[in-house]
Amino acid sequence: MTLAARQTRRLESYLCGGWISGQGEGQILCNAATGEAVAHIDSTGIDFAAALDYGRGRAGKALRAMSFHDRAAMLKALGLALMERKEEFYTESYPTGATRSDGWVDIEGGIGTLLSYASKARRELPNTRILTDGDVEVLSKDNSFSAQHILTPLEGVAIHINAFNFPVWGMLEKIAPSLIAGVPCIVKPASQTAYLTELVVRRIVETGILPDGALQLICGGVGDLLDHVTGQDVVTFTGSASTGRRLKSHPAIIGNSVRFTMEADSLNASILGPDAVPGTPEFDLFVKEVAREMTAKAGQKCTAIRRVIATRALVQPLVEALGKRLQGTTVGLPDAEGTRMGPLASLAQRQEVRERIRDLMADAEIVSGNIDAISTTSGDADKGAFLNPVLLYCDRPFEASAVHDVEAFGPVSTVMPYDTIEEAVALSRRGKGSLVASVFTNDPAVAEEAVIGVAPYHGRVMIGNRASVKSSTGHGSPLPGLVHGGPGRAGGGEEMGGMRGVKHYMQRTAVQGVPRLLSAVTGRYIEGADTQSGVHPFRKSLAELKIGDQLITQSRTVTREDVEHFAEFTGDTFYAHMDEAAAKANPFFDDRVAHGYLIASFAAGLFVDPAPGPVLANYGVDNMRFLSPVYFGDTLTVRLTCKEINPRAGADYGEVRWDCRVTNQNDAVVAQYDVLTMVAKTWP
Ligand code: NAP
Repeated sequence: MTLAARQTRRLESYLCGGWISGQGEGQILCNAATGEAVAHIDSTGIDFAAALDYGRGRAGKALRAMSFHDRAAMLKALGLALMERKEEFYTESYPTGATRSDGWVDIEGGIGTLLSYASKARRELPNTRILTDGDVEVLSKDNSFSAQHILTPLEGVAIHINAFNFPVWGMLEKIAPSLIAGVPCIVKPASQTAYLTELVVRRIVETGILPDGALQLICGGVGDLLDHVTGQDVVTFTGSASTGRRLKSHPAIIGNSVRFTMEADSLNASILGPDAVPGTPEFDLFVKEVAREMTAKAGQKCTAIRRVIATRALVQPLVEALGKRLQGTTVGLPDAEGTRMGPLASLAQRQEVRERIRDLMADAEIVSGNIDAISTTSGDADKGAFLNPVLLYCDRPFEASAVHDVEAFGPVSTVMPYDTIEEAVALSRRGKGSLVASVFTNDPAVAEEAVIGVAPYHGRVMIGNRASVKSSTGHGSPLPGLVHGGPGRAGGGEEMGGMRGVKHYMQRTAVQGVPRLLSAVTGRYIEGADTQSGVHPFRKSLAELKIGDQLITQSRTVTREDVEHFAEFTGDTFYAHMDEAAAKANPFFDDRVAHGYLIASFAAGLFVDPAPGPVLANYGVDNMRFLSPVYFGDTLTVRLTCKEINPRAGADYGEVRWDCRVTNQNDAVVAQYDVLTMVAKTWP
């Protein structure tokens, strides 16, 4: 279908298990490139309190009944199903002004985030329904009173209010951690580009993969939704600081201490190191990156480089190189061959950006581009929101305020000079808190000073240099495993960051009590909890194994010959094992000691059951500590206790974590660690 032939459709909200239209006239949404009507949006008359109850009720229960791995498998299935439908989303994305490569970031970047959360959750979280957080805190000498922090899913709904620029990614990057946590979502996309979000939600609903009510959608205003939020709900907001502040101070949000995450305006900076002179790979990279950040998504990216901070001596060549590159950026219809940059999201948005550029001109002059005369290779600049990239230069950035305060949310950046790294850092901090900064340098001293200087004011800092050219994901890409958010002006929020983001939707609770009952709560063996022995635990399949199954082994005495044999055999002839005088001179030892790895090897020799059985492999150890020296003649005993059982969904085995404690003849613990094994679900 061509853009011109598109039909206007009436967007619907998906709430309380069905698609509903608003009862009002609604607002017409126009194609960013042609000005033609694309859709009507309206949510008048919708019962938002009922939608909240719907999510909190059945959907919340269904999600919480699933384990982290079940929810990860659900996200994976959803991501794969959406990926199959991606071409339809690209077609719907063009009217937003996005080119194919802008769409790639939004659509495939969004689906990739779902898939990445699915795989990280499976790898990094246990297959349980609650999480433990940190170590057990022992609170009594006789081990009768301890504490464990746990995380449980909040029982409300996560309301995600999103900006217009990433209608797919904006939704998926937020629902991924919420759903992994077990919290249902209500998504409210920005009206301007909601038709693309609505289409994706339609396809999600059609897959039937999510439990009923786990994802609801509001197309249009949110009405009185926020009047009904409680302390179990979470509100996340991405958009302008002014709207964010208004929502954050909503009486129900303040009154009920509702978690509120805000991602707002950001005047992100990029610093060109003094070593990155013309002719170096870093200079070329910097020019490329700044131009890319200015033009990708027509500069409508919260992470785009708005302030370009360069050594005074490099300003002239930098402005020339950047100007040349920006002037070569073809602007036109997003789906036309050869277009590098599409239009802004709407004519109103273009008007807004022009006004903001005029504000910037109080401090800076335009050195490349023109805000009035527009040059396009296709499309009509009167009907479509086209704007060519605009580069400004501010000669006295320490005396300026607009360049550090005004966000022109389009293809606009300001170059400003510095004389010392300290000044470059100080300039970046004038943004009062941003999502991301970058530093382009090949000099470790510059990297250290600049990164440590800018870090307190930023959520992410990227170092660009020649060695990471091919692998770097660039200044502007938020990644699922990394924190996205920034302090101060950027909203003070934090999203994603891998499993950190999941925990934003969970309640951390300190649980105190006797280890036996703490262990029952967490499903994990805790020192002091009940144990049982009998059949060797390595003879038990996952179906038979229980937390607390324990083996106390035979003993073994460590001899001088053992240590010397191990030293010669492995090549580890470190003096503490081999040289009596040197060992005695060491502050930790009274004599020659056994190798830690010899102790671990002897421990394995004591606890394994050698015959083929349900234990399939040992895949590692965690938290290994050698706590007291082992001297010749010491006798070791091992206590191995089943600590955690994680059946793996879709496989016929699971992971078992064993608490392994090695003691000497005086009952002193000489080594302590977790042994990690794969165990068959059934055997034989
Ligand atoms: P906006 O006008 O503040 O709108 C953001 C969202 O808030 C939209 O969904 C909007 O819905 C909704 N909204 C507006 N008034 C509301 C109210 N009274 N109650 C509930 N929801 C309300 O921002 P925008 O123009 O869409 O986005 C541009 C801004 O977002 C830029 O300043 C940019 O820096 C920022 N941004 C930040 C990030 C980040 O991650 N930090 C990412 C992208 C964009 P309607 O559209 O229906 O009004």
